[in-house]
Amino acid sequence: MKYRVNEIFLSLQGEGFWTGTPMVFLRLSGCNLACPFCDTDFTAFKEMEADEIVAELLNVAGECRRVCITGGEPLLQLESGLVDALHRAGFTIHLETNGTIEAPDGIDWITVSPKAGLKLKKSNELKLVFQGSDEAYIEGFRSFDAGNFFLQPCDTGSPENSAAILGQCIAYIKSHPWWRLSLQTHKLLGIR
Ligand code: SF4
Repeated sequence: MKYRVNEIFLSLQGEGFWTGTPMVFLRLSGCNLACPFCDTDFTAFKEMEADEIVAELLNVAGECRRVCITGGEPLLQLESGLVDALHRAGFTIHLETNGTIEAPDGIDWITVSPKAGLKLKKSNELKLVFQGSDEAYIEGFRSFDAGNFFLQPCDTGSPENSAAILGQCIAYIKSHPWWRLSLQTHKLLGIR
């Protein structure tokens, strides 16, 4: 099978539970949603077989053996053959998904960032984009089977609006302390 690969690069995880952890990122092209706040350019792609992807990941990873598969929506493409090939190469596999498509078995850490109806039943981490203190909407996700719950303030509006959303998010977490704050630290640091 040929995968449509948008980019492969080594960086630090910027968001959520693993913030600051070195990972090699595999961004797959394409998404099944069109969120108005989307800030990811996942359109361009190069077609690659699973063994070519693993070779390129090893080439850029140095001694890092954590891969984060992201998108777009990576579950449009991800199949067990690539999962197995990555494990054989020694990688621990992280996945970032909108949760609307079932995942193959064997993924070591799943982060769900819900934007539409969820098909996935559980994840290690749920990371919700915070756009305002809509308590009924936000708390509706607490019944999802995730080990960790994060709110991430939406920062794609004007600087003034982003600052206001951040303030609301912090206030919300203070009064709903089962949530934790996730920031897009790679943007704050100016790294990829
Ligand atoms: S699900 Fe994610 S990648 Fe897809 S359009 Fe929405 S924000 Fe962008």
